[in-house]
Amino acid sequence: MYNIFVSIGLLSGTLLFSSLSVVGKKEMKRPNIIFIMSDDHAVNAISAYGSSLIETPNIDRLAKQGMLFKNCFCTNSICSPSRASIMTGKYSHIHGVKTNYVQPGNEHVTYPELLKEAGYQTALVGKTHFGTGTNCIQSMDYYLIHYGVEYHNPKFLEKGKEIQNYEGYVTDIVTDKGIEWIKKCDKSKPFMLMLHHPAPHMPFQEKDELLEVYNNKNYPTPPSFDDPDKNKGDSPRPFNITMQGLLQFQERKESWGKYAWEAPDNLEGEALKKWVYQRYMRAYMACVQVIDENVGKLLDFLKKSGLDENTVVIYTSDQGFFLGEHGWFDKRFFYEESIHMPLIISYPGLKGDQRCEKMVLNVDLPETFLDIAGVSIPGDMQGKSLLPLLSNPKKNGWRDAMYYHYYENNKDSPLPVWRHYGIRTERYKLIRFYHENIDYWELFDLKKDQYERQNLYHSEKYKKQVELLKEQLINLRKFYNDTTDVEIKR
Ligand code: CA
Repeated sequence: MYNIFVSIGLLSGTLLFSSLSVVGKKEMKRPNIIFIMSDDHAVNAISAYGSSLIETPNIDRLAKQGMLFKNCFCTNSICSPSRASIMTGKYSHIHGVKTNYVQPGNEHVTYPELLKEAGYQTALVGKTHFGTGTNCIQSMDYYLIHYGVEYHNPKFLEKGKEIQNYEGYVTDIVTDKGIEWIKKCDKSKPFMLMLHHPAPHMPFQEKDELLEVYNNKNYPTPPSFDDPDKNKGDSPRPFNITMQGLLQFQERKESWGKYAWEAPDNLEGEALKKWVYQRYMRAYMACVQVIDENVGKLLDFLKKSGLDENTVVIYTSDQGFFLGEHGWFDKRFFYEESIHMPLIISYPGLKGDQRCEKMVLNVDLPETFLDIAGVSIPGDMQGKSLLPLLSNPKKNGWRDAMYYHYYENNKDSPLPVWRHYGIRTERYKLIRFYHENIDYWELFDLKKDQYERQNLYHSEKYKKQVELLKEQLINLRKFYNDTTDVEIKR
């Protein structure tokens, strides 16, 4: 059975904050918080998570000085909904941003507003995915928001100014401007800096000096790259998130110049699919390398300035990403690579190089930030502060199941996927796709089948398990107050 404990917020946070402080070299004042969030960065592109595809020495360095969460998941794996969940601590059906086509309003309080009220200096540099119109963004002391998709000489909207181009590469600019803001902060008060990199999101534009470096790299394909079941088997799922689909995305952007992808004319079928995969991985990994270098630049700055002694640094991404698994790119699905977010928290005074296996969620982040700052957590937030795990990564009574719900299937979506929801426990995942007349279920045994290639839903052997999971799923939907398409046939 699953266990969900409503966060007791300030009480536990303050106590744990105190206990963490005691662990430190000296009593901490309210810590500064730097929240680095990249866009679509898969754990399979981080060496601290065991990836052999790329070395990320600086993100690994952050993990060595803090705690790496091995099982952090997104509750609706797509940009705007996840970012709205991270701001509000609520599921999509509560905050209302169910798809990328919905703008958030001001009905739900966000953690930056609460931190600001509590005396924190606040800034967001990078990507919001929903502009600057909300109270959340307007409340900030400073913002510099990436405008459009360009990586080179990108446009930014800066607080109090017109949209303008900034010379350079987007990931470098975001870090430099963030550091610049920190330097100007009033040092008698704590700050919260959101460094939200637009990379490595499509269009995956490389830094010029890396084009040639990565052009010579070759990447092994993942075991499920040629998975027939998910690409053309009996599964009634739509999918244009294939390698060929990715190529079409790239080809239609004529203005991308030397960053555009041009497949050789003579390639087709499997050969073309493999070519696109290599091109994709080279571009994606080149973007990740620059993020990693910028994490290093930031950590060096904190060390040199002495701010490292009182600054919590968090690294995450707004969701996971397929790197060729099932032959796919993108996210959206409730499958592992899509929902799996990196999450590393470096907390001064905390023992370094720790791993936490507990299941944590994107909706847990705002409560964690508020808890770190000693700010009262609103009772209607739906996550849990992670501070208790920072002092005890094996804490008893943590959640052992998560709820997921994906919605974006409107005709305007570039990559529509049937709506679905489901439950993931430590071992099993039950998914229900529902769309118009479709009612299609999947069950995976993650212990035996980590790539989710064998649907066991109709297996006699798992009948009892399906029943149990459906019961848990109904309870989770009640717990989170999700009343959309509520009927589950038993
Ligand atoms: Ca994203």
